[in-house]
Amino acid sequence: MSTIAQNLKQLTSKLPTGVKLVAVSKFHPVERLQEAYDAGQRLFGENRAQELASKAPQLPADIEWNFIGHLQKNKVRMIIPHVAMIQSVDSVELLTLINKEAARVNRHIKVLLQLHVAKEQTKSGFTVDEVLKAAAEGNFENLSNVTIAGVMAMATFTDDMQQVASEFETVHDTFIKLREMKFATPEFKEISMGMSDDWTIAVEHGATIVRIGTDIFGAREY
Ligand SMILES: *Cc1c(COP(=O)(O)O)cnc(C)c1O
Repeated sequence: MSTIAQNLKQLTSKLPTGVKLVAVSKFHPVERLQEAYDAGQRLFGENRAQELASKAPQLPADIEWNFIGHLQKNKVRMIIPHVAMIQSVDSVELLTLINKEAARVNRHIKVLLQLHVAKEQTKSGFTVDEVLKAAAEGNFENLSNVTIAGVMAMATFTDDMQQVASEFETVHDTFIKLREMKFATPEFKEISMGMSDDWTIAVEHGATIVRIGTDIFGAREY
């Protein structure tokens, strides 16, 4: 069995049932992704539009591509034909544009609202106050070609696991608040959080999707 297949097997055996695994394949060549596919993996995550648009046509059509990086508005059109889900919606303008572009090519896209809970200012996303305000103002309504399926977040890059846990707790609380306010629908159900170093803590705090790269594919070469 290949190393990638072994890594996937180990991970999936530890993940509670119902928690989905997105294999984060950024910077890895399509051959490695194919190995993961051959081992049964169908959900893949990429964080650069160009890279996703170039990899998708080279791999089997039943892969569900998730976009997980900061998405510039001028790159939306490039990824819309390929993605099943955009996890990193960080503004109302971006959401509106995704809906428009999806409608243009007659696609329906799932999205997650990215929350900024980490300490680093470089990370993107709505703050908790911003997302609750946008929801209250009705900014997440009347989207014909987009389903808002939940929230996504990254924790601070730190060894302080208390800090990480408290940020995941904030994400979970915000998910509940949003659900109560606006999204009392069965589709609003996903909390995407947890990466190679912190996914066990994320799962303890209610993650339904984890995004793991290094523990599957090894270290990335930039
Ligand atoms: C790269 C990346 C991951 C995966 O990180 P690993 O530490 O390699 O598991 C998860 N989420 C996002 C948004 C990423 O950019």
